[in-house]
Amino acid sequence: MSRQRIPVAAPALVGREREYVLDCLDSTWISSNGKYLERFESAFAEFCGVRHAVSCCNGTAAVHLALLAHDVGLGDEVIVPTLTYVATANPVVYCGAQPVFVDAEPRTWNMDPERVAEAVTSKTRGIIVVHLYGHPVDMDPILELAEKHGLWVIEDAAEAHGATYRGRIAGSMGSLATFSFYGNKIITSGEGGMVVTDDERLAEIVRQLHGQGQDLERRYWFPMVGFNYRMTNIEAAIGLAQLERIDWHLGRRREIAAWYREELSDVEGVELSPHEPWAESAFWITCAVLNEERFGPRDDAMAVLDRAGIETRPFFYPLHTLPMYRDANVGKGFPIAEDLARRGVNLPSSATLTRDEVSYVCDQLRALAR
Ligand SMILES: *Cc1c(COP(=O)(O)O)cnc(C)c1O
Repeated sequence: MSRQRIPVAAPALVGREREYVLDCLDSTWISSNGKYLERFESAFAEFCGVRHAVSCCNGTAAVHLALLAHDVGLGDEVIVPTLTYVATANPVVYCGAQPVFVDAEPRTWNMDPERVAEAVTSKTRGIIVVHLYGHPVDMDPILELAEKHGLWVIEDAAEAHGATYRGRIAGSMGSLATFSFYGNKIITSGEGGMVVTDDERLAEIVRQLHGQGQDLERRYWFPMVGFNYRMTNIEAAIGLAQLERIDWHLGRRREIAAWYREELSDVEGVELSPHEPWAESAFWITCAVLNEERFGPRDDAMAVLDRAGIETRPFFYPLHTLPMYRDANVGKGFPIAEDLARRGVNLPSSATLTRDEVSYVCDQLRALAR
């Protein structure tokens, strides 16, 4: 068969990426100053409907900077979902604080607001919500709870550029929000991240911390221990070109998700990515949670698809099961996340996917059912 291998999520460089990058090279503005950084930051702030955006080197650094802006430190607790990428929780540890994991809820696969309420202690400083695979968190109960306990809410929107919750865009609902522009995300800058906020004071702290802590007005004056978490002008050039075409990127991902829903609607035992009526998912990755009686063990199904030239990925291991977080979480129950993580598969979801490729993936998946 001459069919090309189908990746899970490949970048689509369909705009002015090449032109902008060549402009960086020709002008020699290749490091962490330059016009593309300013343009990318202001365009991204506008896209999120907030006043400030600070670029940084990746989405993990963005989460770290957001936590530092809230002065998270030793002895603090931060509530995070257990079903997420590891980079949501690790920055809590970088700050000397403790991530407190909560289970998912079955409708959206996101953190369960009721479990969040149970996790609040006198040490809790805030909550990081994650719009998993692009589907917004049910924010209102969490924002209410946070307000009641005097906590902040940071959105880890690394997978959800452009998703909306009751008309509000991801990134505009927390005190701060973080994004990733890694190569497999909705839009990419190669490596890259962004912290966005409406709060000028928080934005200034983030900007200062990401540039070694240097005073924003006084060169070589470092009143705090900062980091080199800067993005380069070349990365920003790619990011800006991607952002200029974000409607296309989001449109493609939503179309692909709709094709999967249509083609698999007659297949029993496949639960596809959530799409609640109050949410517009960014559909970063279309996922399928497989019924084991019909499809057998998830990993076997993935192996068959792999042999058919279809790349898939398993869901993230719930973070409370990873070696560094396991001991603190023995005996706690996370049944929903564990069930989803055992049976969940990321299906090919690149913006460049064709209808024919989606049909092929669906045919192969359908053939696995017994
Ligand atoms: C990708 C991702 C990150 C980290 O972003 P990097 O740019 O890879 O550092 C953080 N959180 C979530 C939920 C992610 O998916």
